Amino acid sequence: MSLNLIMLGPPGAGKGTQAERLARNRGIPKISTGDILREAVHEDTEVGRRAKVIMDRGELVGDDVMIGIVGERLGRTDAQGGFILDGFPRTVAQATALDGLMIGRDPLLVVDIIVPEDELVRRLSTRLICSNCGHNAPLGDGQPGAKCPLCGGELVQRADDSQKVVLERLKIYRANTKPLVDFYHLRPTFRSINGAQSPDRVAADLVAAVEAAGSVRRAGAPGLDDVVGGVLP
Ligand code: ADP
Repeated sequence: MSLNLIMLGPPGAGKGTQAERLARNRGIPKISTGDILREAVHEDTEVGRRAKVIMDRGELVGDDVMIGIVGERLGRTDAQGGFILDGFPRTVAQATALDGLMIGRDPLLVVDIIVPEDELVRRLSTRLICSNCGHNAPLGDGQPGAKCPLCGGELVQRADDSQKVVLERLKIYRANTKPLVDFYHLRPTFRSINGAQSPDRVAADLVAAVEAAGSVRRAGAPGLDDVVGGVLP
């Protein structure tokens, strides 16, 4: 069975870091909608120009644009044997559309990473990102102007990691994305993990959650088809 995983959790929960690590171990693509948008901004495409204004304010890019981007990306050959989605879905409309995109594929596993808000603010206001390859560099890996450990590019603060925008992103998360926990939590393939631990511990808990959710799925537990779309049996 393919590992078709989505990672839920607030900005700064560590989704990107954990998704990157697990995707590398499993040999499947990590699909980060934030990275796709930042690349479009970097390449100055039409979508990128429009997205930049929205992202710089910490708001959400429109559902239709995001669903189009993810639909196209999941249709590519490298995503047929599994994928890890980071940053999508972020609204109930996106989650509903994703259920449609999953028809004919192995069911989704959903992992929610839980981190208290004061810890998120601390992490986001201190993290750096590589301006060349997009690698996330937490505090300790260098100050702005230092070099990326992966590609040697310059580490900078993300435009939307300033404190004002971080607070806005957390507000938007609470209003639009947190409701996804209710959308998914009754599915047998839903798991929560504690993200307020070391990256290695979170990675171990993530693997355990994926194994547990995957074995429910393999056993063909009843209920999954019944709750697709958030409708309870
Ligand atoms: P975060 O660290 O907040 O999880 P991301 O890198 O995932 O950041 O996303 C950065 C920004 O890109 C978001 O604040 C939002 O403006 C936009 N974005 C990314 N994914 C989506 C999505 N699925 N729907 C709408 N906007 C998105």
